[in-house]
Amino acid sequence: MPTDTPADSPSPEPAEAATPRLLEVEDAPEGTFGELEPTSPPLTDAQGRIRLSFTRIDAYRNCPRRFRYTYVDRLPSRPSPHLSFGTSLHAALEAFHDRQLPGRPSEQELLDALYASWDQRGFAELPREEQVAYYRHGQQVLRRYHARGEPDDRHTVATEAWFEVPFAYQAVVVGSIDRIDLDDDDRLHVVDYKTGRKARPRSEVAGSLQLALYALACRHLYGRLPATVSLDFVVPDVTVTVRREELDLDAANDAVLETAAAIRTAAFPTTPNRLCDWCDHRAICPAWEAPEGEETFGALVTEAAERRRRLAREVRELRELEAGLARLAGELGLDA
Ligand code: SF4
Repeated sequence: MPTDTPADSPSPEPAEAATPRLLEVEDAPEGTFGELEPTSPPLTDAQGRIRLSFTRIDAYRNCPRRFRYTYVDRLPSRPSPHLSFGTSLHAALEAFHDRQLPGRPSEQELLDALYASWDQRGFAELPREEQVAYYRHGQQVLRRYHARGEPDDRHTVATEAWFEVPFAYQAVVVGSIDRIDLDDDDRLHVVDYKTGRKARPRSEVAGSLQLALYALACRHLYGRLPATVSLDFVVPDVTVTVRREELDLDAANDAVLETAAAIRTAAFPTTPNRLCDWCDHRAICPAWEAPEGEETFGALVTEAAERRRRLAREVRELRELEAGLARLAGELGLDA
C-alpha cells in the first residue's frame, strides 16, 4: 500500500524544503467560498420549492449576484487549493469514521485514506513543491487528529449524513452532516469539520447558521435535536462545542424562508465586499465595470480594504516601535 503522495502527484520532497510558502497562502474566509457542497442540484425541485443548502444561503446573503452566476446561470467555478484541501481531508475523515471493523483504524489507515481521496484539481497550477507541501500538511493534520483519540462514551452512527428538510412548502434545505455520534446516554452529537487555518470563537460557533440548520436536519433524520453541535477545526486542532439550547433555530428558519422568497423575486443585486477577491465571476461583474478612467464601486471597496490592511500594519509597527523605545528608556533610566 502506498503511503506517501498520491500516484499522480509529484514524488515526495523533504518536508522542510516544501513547507514555507504554504503557510503564507491566505485562506479564503470561511463561509461562502470555503464550504463544501457535495452536489449542485437544480434550484427548484419537482414541487416548486427552492432548493437550498447552507452554502447557497450563505452565498446569497454574501452577494446575490454571485449566487445568480453560480446557481442560476451555473457558470463554472475554478477549483482552488483551499477547496481541494478541504475536500481531501473531509473524504479521508469520512472513510476513517465509516469503518465498520472492531477497533479504531490506525494512523497509517487514516493516512492511506488521505492518499486514496487526495483531490488534485485545485493544485494543478501550483509548482510541484507547493503541491507536495499541501499534501504533507494534510498528513500532519491527520496525524494530530488521530493522536487526540476519541471519547470512550460515544460512537459514530453516521458520516456524511444526507438530509433534505422541507420548510413550509417554500423551500427544501439539502446537505450532509460530516459526522453524527451517539453517546452512552442515547444523546446525539453533530460534528462538522473545518479545514481553515484558524478556529472561530465560541460566540460565532453558537451563532452559526450552518450548525442551526444541521440541528434541524438531525431532528428530521432522527426525530430529535442533538444534545450538542461542534465545529472541529482540524488544522489548529481545536473543537468548539455548543449546546443545542444556544442555537437560534427560529433565526435559521427565518433565514431559509427569507432567502427562498428573495430568490423567487429574482433579486440578484451586486454587493461588493471583501470576498470579491476570491470571486470567480469578478471579470463579468457590473460592480467592477466602469468607463475608462472612472472608478467602480468594487474598485473603491478593494482600495478601502487595502488601506485598512496598510493602516493595521502601520499601527502594529508603531506599537512595536513604542515598546522598543519604552524598553530602551527603562534600560537607560530615562522617561520614554
Ligand atoms: S465580484 Fe463581488 S460583487 Fe461581483 S459577483 Fe463577485 S462577490 Fe458579487
